[in-house]
Amino acid sequence: MQTQSNNNAPFCPRGTAPGHMNRAFLTVDLEEWYHLDYLKGYDCRGTGVRVLPQIFDFLDMLDDEGVKVTFFCVGEIADENAGILREILRRGHALGCHGLDHELLTNKSLEQFVDETRRAREMIEAAAGQKITGYRASCFTMERDKLDALRALGFTYDSSKIRFAQHPLYRNLDLSGFTQAEDLVYIQDGFSEYEIPTLEIMGYSIPVSGGGYLRLFPFWLLRILLGMYARKHENFTLYVHPFELTDLPLPLPKGLGKATRFRCLVGRRGNLKKLRRVIRWLKKRGARFITLETDRKERGLS
Ligand SMILES: [Zn+2]
Repeated sequence: MQTQSNNNAPFCPRGTAPGHMNRAFLTVDLEEWYHLDYLKGYDCRGTGVRVLPQIFDFLDMLDDEGVKVTFFCVGEIADENAGILREILRRGHALGCHGLDHELLTNKSLEQFVDETRRAREMIEAAAGQKITGYRASCFTMERDKLDALRALGFTYDSSKIRFAQHPLYRNLDLSGFTQAEDLVYIQDGFSEYEIPTLEIMGYSIPVSGGGYLRLFPFWLLRILLGMYARKHENFTLYVHPFELTDLPLPLPKGLGKATRFRCLVGRRGNLKKLRRVIRWLKKRGARFITLETDRKERGLS
């Protein structure tokens, strides 16, 4: 174990040979397409189009590949997707909370965060029929005082830390007092924080772990980037969203800029197949796909 003294210096203790992968955490933010930050300010809910009911092909693919996933659900859509939440748990995946309404935490007071997190947890637990103890902040906007409040509420893990300096939405979460147990895994008093990895190239952080890049880049390019990543890291976290796992047409609002439209729609067709190839590529290098809850159990934290 090593105390994390500098929050900006990546530290990658390696228990495996370079190029060989250890743990892989596939995570899904269970939100609707209209929760995308780019679509805030538009009224998209009334269209009735929903992507969550389309994720069964994805769930079947996970079963085929023997991959267990951690899902983080937005509280306000838990009730209407109760059947899906229960199916996710029935198939052996883990379920956590992705906030109440997907608004950025940086726009909420600490009191509001505490109140909403309690309500979101109640909604998800009522829909899923099971207790939840994991959290991911919308757009990774977790802040230290909110992280401490989350722990006081009884949550046991969070996955909201990302080092992505050039993106205005993402902050680098302060983890003073935590120790880094392993690549991407930080622990303090039994609470664990899981970092979302980025790849540093020429001073830029490329979030090779994100669904947007999975959609945008062809597989041959992803393979090169993941190869570069695997030379420096042994653990990997991927994050995807339901709208990226289906090519169901999205009724994007008129007046949306071309760039935003492109961001929302690029690479959705065939993305599930590409994700399967990425999973197989990682598995071939020794990666074991486990949930964050299983990771905690294996470390004796729960
Ligand atoms: Zn989200």
